[in-house]
Amino acid sequence: MKRIMQSLFIAMSIGLGGLLMNSTISEEGHEAVLDSIVESIEIVESCSEKCRDCVFYPISKNQALRSDYVPRDIVGSGLNGGQEVSERIQKPLHDLFEKATELGVNMKINSGYRSYETQNQLFYYYVWNEQQANPGISYDDAIAKANVYSAKPGHSDHQLGYTVDVACSTCDSFKLDEKNKPVYEFLENYANDFGFVISYPDETTDQTGYKYEPWHIRYIGIKRATEYKQINEGREVKIPLEEYLDELCSIHENNLM
Ligand SMILES: [Zn+2]
Repeated sequence: MKRIMQSLFIAMSIGLGGLLMNSTISEEGHEAVLDSIVESIEIVESCSEKCRDCVFYPISKNQALRSDYVPRDIVGSGLNGGQEVSERIQKPLHDLFEKATELGVNMKINSGYRSYETQNQLFYYYVWNEQQANPGISYDDAIAKANVYSAKPGHSDHQLGYTVDVACSTCDSFKLDEKNKPVYEFLENYANDFGFVISYPDETTDQTGYKYEPWHIRYIGIKRATEYKQINEGREVKIPLEEYLDELCSIHENNLM
């Protein structure tokens, strides 16, 4: 809310500055102007009827967040690489990075909160890229190709503010290379201890439609992250995160943490 209020004040100072500075609006008048602006901005309270706590919202190729869904508590990560995240994951993320440092793994954040608009620009940039790289390809095929490594707008859990992409501090981002391997191994072994899970593990591509992304971790709380890891241990066909969360939200309505 604080951030929204700040944005409102910025918007007011830009757009309504003249009105507010030059007029003699009373204190109550200012409040009324502010209230009307607050009402005009739609803020989605929960992700869906089914899952009241957005931290568990199952996002997939079939389930998306609304284009107007904006988390209320976005802050700077305060970590190497910067980026914005939900305030709720700031501490667990710091603890995760601290553990990595302790083990001699130096990490950076490549990407955090992504608005619907950013996803929109990113996805269609990749579609354009596919068209450039494959002359003669149909638009639908270019979309399908891009959709293996990039989510359509609204279909990325980055929009929740609970997801980050991580790499080694001197590495290229989003790469399945040797240099990043210690980071990915660290995430595989320790992320769940801090409440994070790998959204797109190696063995779930057939179900999720996304390629393996060992750098992409999402916060779902220690209890659920540990549970998710445990139920997949030793399973030949892994349960994708979206399926696990879907079931979780169907069984419990609240108190999922
Ligand atoms: Zn990601």
